[in-house]
Formats: sequence, C-alpha cells, structure tokens
Amino acid sequence: AKSSADGDFSGGKITPYGPISLDPAAGILNYGQGVLEGVKAYRTEDSRILLFRPEENASRMRLGAERLCMPAPSVEQFLDAVKQTVTANRHWVPPPGKGSLYIRPLLIGTGPGLAPRPSTEVTFMVYANPVGNFHEASAPMSLIIQDKFHRATPGGTGGIKSITNYSPVYKPTTEAKAAGFSDVLFLDAATGKYIEEASSCNVFIVKENVISTPPTDDVILPGITRRSIMKIARWLGIQVEERPITVEEAMSADEVFCTGTAVGVSPVGSVTYQGKRSEYITGEDTVTNLLRSSLVGIQTGILPDRELWNFVLE
Ligand code: PMP
Repeated sequence: AKSSADGDFSGGKITPYGPISLDPAAGILNYGQGVLEGVKAYRTEDSRILLFRPEENASRMRLGAERLCMPAPSVEQFLDAVKQTVTANRHWVPPPGKGSLYIRPLLIGTGPGLAPRPSTEVTFMVYANPVGNFHEASAPMSLIIQDKFHRATPGGTGGIKSITNYSPVYKPTTEAKAAGFSDVLFLDAATGKYIEEASSCNVFIVKENVISTPPTDDVILPGITRRSIMKIARWLGIQVEERPITVEEAMSADEVFCTGTAVGVSPVGSVTYQGKRSEYITGEDTVTNLLRSSLVGIQTGILPDRELWNFVLE
C-alpha cells in the first residue's frame, strides 16, 4: 500500500511475488529512507498458525518511521497486512518442528526528492518465505570482537530497524566469516569498552545464574526476543540485569547467548578478542537451553501462552 503524508494506507492488495518499480529519485534508493521488520509464523500440532508478538513489530516500525520522517501504518493496518500475507501463503508455513514462515514488512520512501529531504510518499509492503530451524541446524555461534568497525553511534539509528544499519555490517561480518567466525560482537563507539550486540541479534551473558544484557538506549535494537527472554527468565526465578557489560565480563561469563527473530535463542560457544578466545558452557543443562526451550514452547503452542503473546490465525 502507498501513502502520502496523511498516513492513509488503505488500498493495499495481495500480488504475486516479483519485482516492483521505483522512481529513480525515490527516498529509499538515494538516501536509504526505509525501515524493515521480521516476524515469524509457526504451525502448531493442531494446525493453527501462530504469529509471535507482531504488534511489537508494528510499534517498532512506527518508532523507526518517526525517526526517518515517514508516515507509518497504524498497528491495526500493520497487523492486517501481515495477517493477509500469511493467510495468502498459509500452505508455505512449515509443519511443526520444521521451521517457520519468515515475514518481512518493509516501509520505504518511494516519493521523489533529489535533495536529502524526506519523501513523504511511502510504500508499505510485506513478503514472506519459509525458513528452516536455525538452532537445530547449526552449532553454537562463535563471535569475534573487533575494534575497527562499529554498528551504531549515540544519536544515530542503531536503536531502530533502519535499512541503513545493515549494509555497513557486511564488511565486518564478511571478514569474520572468512576467518571462521559466525558473527561479530560489536563494541560501543564512544569508549570501545562495552559489548553492544551482533549484526542481527541481541546478546546476553550468564554468570552464576544471573543473566545480563546491555541497555538498548539509542544504540542497540530493542529486540522483541530480548524483551521476551527477560520476562521468561523472571518467571523462572532467574535474576535479570540490564546494564553496561564490559568486554572482560563477557570474556569471563559462564554462558553467552544471542536472541533474535531469525536466530531464536542461540548459544554462543566462544568469543574471541585480540587473539584471546573464551569458551562457554553449551548444551542441554544450561540456563541458555532452559530459556530457549521455554520460548520455543510458547511460540509453537506447546507451552501455555500466559501473556497472550501469540496472535492466532485459525
Ligand atoms: N539486533 C539487530 C541489529 C537485529 O537486526 C535484530 C533482528 N530484528 C535483533 C537485534 C533482534 O530483534 P528481534 O528479537 O526483535 O528479532
């Protein structure tokens, strides 16, 4: 659906997946004016389809749009578009335990403007594709901390899901992968002492059964999985801290894990910094695994959904 400054997104429709046409002077093409989201749909044993907290994605998209001077769909319009997309693709939602349907909402500036000024004409679209089960398919993550590149700066766009946050991490993550690591763990740009997050997931450390994660402020994406894990941990009687975490603390943690819609809750097997490698406990008998199975249980309809996080599509 297209909208101008008035934010009227009515008139959207389902179309077959394929190329779209854009004005060469569009805000997204010239100045990266756009925000994205990621939502997963899971099929339950009784063949319902569950979407995990999609209204949180809608609110986050609205905050990002505000930062990038764009009108945004209302929470209801966002949910309706996501629901229609999943319904149209319901046969692509994998069976229980075999993955999920990954849904990608995009809000981009499609109006012209050759000076770097915001386009008030925007397009909201949603596409979807089935994905496998990341956690079961892979080994624990190995992260590298480097000093050369940062993903966010105070006052910048690190705290929103701006499209411009992702291509700058291509180079550090490509270099990390070439060196055998699975992702980069970024440090804060101001002091270079504190861990922030990986390229597309939040990070937690576990030390003596306390879980800690850095405060998001305007530099770390406020992950929906992150927030959910903090809540689940409190239900389970696990102490949760939100505070700056130094590199040294991360290196001496008992466990480290990452959270995100794509990765779920993924154990980290090692973190390497300046040639020094720390290894962490992984496997069945870990805090990480307890939190992971609790979250997956809710998302797939196996465990009670006490906060009504799931949006149910019959
Ligand atoms: N940080 C970044 C940079 C991300 O791209 C993502 C994925 N959206 C996350 C963290 C995790 O957020 P969520 O749990 O909402 O998927």
